[in-house]
Amino acid sequence: MPTDAMINLYDLSLPELTTLLAEWGQPAYRARQVWEWLYRHYAGSFDEMSTLPGTLRERLARETTLVIGEVALSQNSSDGQTKKVLFQLPDGQYIETVLMRYEKRRTLCISTQAGCAMGCVFCATGQMGFMRHLSVAEIVGQVMHFARELAAEDQHVTNIVMMGMGEPLHNYDNTLAAVDRLTDATGFNLGARKITISTVGLIPAIRRYADEQRQTPLAVSLHAATDEERGRLLPVNRRWPLAELMEACRYYVAKTGRRMTFEWALIAEENDTEEQAHKLGELLRGMLGHVNLIPLNPTAGYGGKPSSPEQVARFQEVLSSYGVTSTVRVRRGIDIQAGCGQLRDRHLNDAGRAA
Ligand code: SAH
Ligand code: SF4
Repeated sequence: MPTDAMINLYDLSLPELTTLLAEWGQPAYRARQVWEWLYRHYAGSFDEMSTLPGTLRERLARETTLVIGEVALSQNSSDGQTKKVLFQLPDGQYIETVLMRYEKRRTLCISTQAGCAMGCVFCATGQMGFMRHLSVAEIVGQVMHFARELAAEDQHVTNIVMMGMGEPLHNYDNTLAAVDRLTDATGFNLGARKITISTVGLIPAIRRYADEQRQTPLAVSLHAATDEERGRLLPVNRRWPLAELMEACRYYVAKTGRRMTFEWALIAEENDTEEQAHKLGELLRGMLGHVNLIPLNPTAGYGGKPSSPEQVARFQEVLSSYGVTSTVRVRRGIDIQAGCGQLRDRHLNDAGRAA
C-alpha cells in the first residue's frame, strides 16, 4: 500500500518530474525516460524500468509510487464483458472503476471524487455523501491500472467516461488536469473526443468549460424537464434551475459547436410520463443535442423502479415527434452492482456482517 507521504508519479507533469529528478542530481533526459515508462509502457513496478540505473530505481521505489491504493474487490460480470474494481486509497476511502468491453471499444468508467456532495436521490454515490476530491494521480491512476491489465492482452483503453463516483465539475481543476494528462501526445495520447465528462449541471463550471473551448464531450444529467420534478430528484436543481441550466447548455453549444448529450434515468411513474416527455421535447426542440435514456438501476436507498420497455418506447416516440433524437442505453454489469457507488456499499455491508 502506498503511504500518504509518497509522491505518486502520476501527480506530476513532465516539467514537475524533470524538476524532481534534477533535484535528485539526475541528468535532464531521465525525466523523459521515466515519463515513457509511465505513459507509454504502463510500468507497474520500478523493476521494469530497465533503462534506469539501479540506484535511481531504488530511490523511486522508496519515495514514490505508481499505484493509487489496493484493490479491495474485483468482480467480473457473468458474461465476462464488464469488470469492476473497488480501490481502497491510502486514507481508507473507496472508489470504483468499471471496464466495459464492447466489440471494438474498451470503455472505462472512472471516479473523480470519493462520494458526492450532490445528493441525487436515486444514486448510490449520492446516498453516501461527500468524502473528498480525488487527486490528479487518483483519477489518472484508475486508467493506468486498466491500461496495464489490457496491455497484457494486447488491448488498449479506447474510451473513458467520467460517470463513476463523484461530480467531475465539482473537482474541476484535478479532473481537467487529468484529462490534459491522458490526452498529452507525448504520453498516454488518448484523443480528447474519447473522454466524456458527465455533469449534474453545475452552471458556472459548464460556462468555464465552454470558455476554455474544451474538446472533451460533455453530457448533462437532466433526468427531469420541470423544476418541480427535477428538484425532487436532484437537489442541485434548487440552486441552479432548469432555465438557467438550459441557457448554459446553449452557451456551450454556441461556443464549441459541439453536440450536447443529455442523460435521463427512466424511473417508472416518476419521470417517464408522457407529460415529462412532452416537456423535454419542448426544452430541447431545435437544439444540437441527443438524449441517452437509461432505465433506472435500482439502489438500496431509493424505492423507484426502472421503466418498462413499453413506457421507454412511448417516451422515445414523444421525443421524436419534437425532432429530438434519443438512444436507449442498457446499464452494463447489473449483476456486479456496476452502477456507481454500489460495489462499495456491498463491500462495506459484507465486511459489517463478517465482523
Ligand atoms: N456526477 C455526474 C457523473 C457521475 S453519475 C453526473 O451526475 O452526471 C453518471 C450518470 O449515472 C449520471 O447521469 C447519473 O445521473 C446516472 N445515475 C446515477 N445513479 C443512477 C441509477 N441508479 N440508475 C441510472 N442512472 C444513474
Ligand atoms: Fe453525484 Fe452524479 Fe450521483 Fe448526482 S448522479 S449524486 S451528481 S454522482
